Amino acid sequence: MRQRNLLLIGLMLIPVFAIGQKKEVEGMKYLDEHRRPVFRDNIIIPDVGKYQVLKCDFHMHTVFSDGQVWPSVRNQEAWQEGLDAFAITDHVEYTPHKEDVKVNHNRGYELLKESAAKSNLILVKGNEVTRNTPPGHFNAIYIGDASDYIESRDAAQDKTAIMKAVAQNAFIFWNHPGWQPGIAGSYDWIPFVDDLYKQGVLHGIEVINGFGFHMKALDWCIDKGLTVMGTSDIHNLVAHEYDLSKEYVHRTMTLVLAKERTAESIREALGAGRTVAWASKILAGREEHVRSLFDACVQLTPSFYTEEKKNGDRIKYYELRNNSDLYFELELKEGNNTRLVVLYPRSVQQISASAETTSLSGEVISTYVRSDKHLSVNFPLK
Ligand SMILES: [Zn+2]
Ligand SMILES: [Zn+2]
Repeated sequence: MRQRNLLLIGLMLIPVFAIGQKKEVEGMKYLDEHRRPVFRDNIIIPDVGKYQVLKCDFHMHTVFSDGQVWPSVRNQEAWQEGLDAFAITDHVEYTPHKEDVKVNHNRGYELLKESAAKSNLILVKGNEVTRNTPPGHFNAIYIGDASDYIESRDAAQDKTAIMKAVAQNAFIFWNHPGWQPGIAGSYDWIPFVDDLYKQGVLHGIEVINGFGFHMKALDWCIDKGLTVMGTSDIHNLVAHEYDLSKEYVHRTMTLVLAKERTAESIREALGAGRTVAWASKILAGREEHVRSLFDACVQLTPSFYTEEKKNGDRIKYYELRNNSDLYFELELKEGNNTRLVVLYPRSVQQISASAETTSLSGEVISTYVRSDKHLSVNFPLK
């Protein structure tokens, strides 16, 4: 017991201890001010009703398939970028580094299990079932033993390959439909996919994969009740692919509206379709979820001032507040006029309207609830 107490004290003192401990060697100058400061982004998104909004990326690669990095780098990135949950989803059927890295479909997950837990990150086990196009690629997450899967890409085994994930009760989503243009059926609702869907074993589709917004996939998700997914599908370093020096740019991810911050709760939310894909300035998802997310983040205050014009007109002033790190572009309509209002993360915009106006309506043009439809909003004025 006594030892345990000492250990606890030791842990608490690590930062101070570490600095105090550093032995300086004579004849050495230390340039630590040039190091990147170590911290984790704290992405603020308010709860949506009884749900927490968790930042998740369930599609990424490592050297265990065709990725450029060792799995631990994915953990560091996920921590730095403020994710809540992630999955390594290396290709089962495509392992181009196999001469140098022993093929082991379980290894990425095994290597990260402990470090993810230490980083307060939820690690979900997954892989990418990589069939030729069509039907293309499918991600399976919440899988069991990854050595159970089929490595052959023989088209005759496409269905059997997916059924391996079904047998493990995985959450399965269709990846980047349309990613190989020019191939017949590569961006169509093909019979193979329809068959999985009708069997109830296809649960979602990637609507945004990295820098590609698969707009037809959004409509399929809405029309068929499938879960909208956003993922990075990152193969290189995130910082080499995304211009993180720009404001509002981050990896593509899925916002999951979960009851709790646990793997089980995320699984429940994915199954219930409570997600919104988030790619830097763009949000895409089912209307009810995009709306509840917007409503949780953005509020119009009651009028704080009424201006009396000389001609007798009365103008009321309001504040439109964005309490989140999400970015919204709003097109407000008043009479025949349209005004673009940019709701920068954690900022306030001033809105004024004639005292006779009872409500303001508009569209959030940075959101998509269908391929051709933005979220429409209405603010009653008080
Ligand atoms: Zn893929
Ligand atoms: Zn991939």
